[in-house]
Amino acid sequence: MYNLPIVGVSACLLGQRVRYDGCDKYTSLIAEGLKQYCQLIAVCPEVEIGLGIPRAKIQLTQVGSIIKVLKTDELNVDVADQLAEFAVRFINQYSLSGLVLQDKSPSCGVGNTKLFSQSGEEIGVSSGIFAKTIMQLSPDLIVVQASQLQNKYEIEQFADRLI
Ligand code: SF4
Repeated sequence: MYNLPIVGVSACLLGQRVRYDGCDKYTSLIAEGLKQYCQLIAVCPEVEIGLGIPRAKIQLTQVGSIIKVLKTDELNVDVADQLAEFAVRFINQYSLSGLVLQDKSPSCGVGNTKLFSQSGEEIGVSSGIFAKTIMQLSPDLIVVQASQLQNKYEIEQFADRLI
């Protein structure tokens, strides 16, 4: 029997209420549109590392030459290493063909997540730590953001690339 390619998807896009505010980002085009082409694995890195729902936001913060992921209610708590360690476990657990990740998240964003200075000013953009770690570990993995799957044509194009 033909096995569908395995694709990890930010759990909030599949309708799981895992966001910091207890809401989801359900996107039917992704949740329903991809099902016929792929086996979808929901993943929320922030919940997986033990951050609760609801929770304080976390944000990418430039500290010297490194980017930390600081909790906005406890600025001395950096969860970057936990997110990176979870990314290693996740990539080792599944034979992924692709990843579909929520834009602008400090965990899942790809090149479009706000980066702050230690004094709280926006100083640029970077990638979320879960996404960045996975892309470093698996540079050939097909990784897209939800904003890149806006219509059936883009869904089909993505599915074609998985094979
Ligand atoms: S963007 Fe990623 S970390 Fe944030 S709620 Fe969605 S799955 Fe979880």
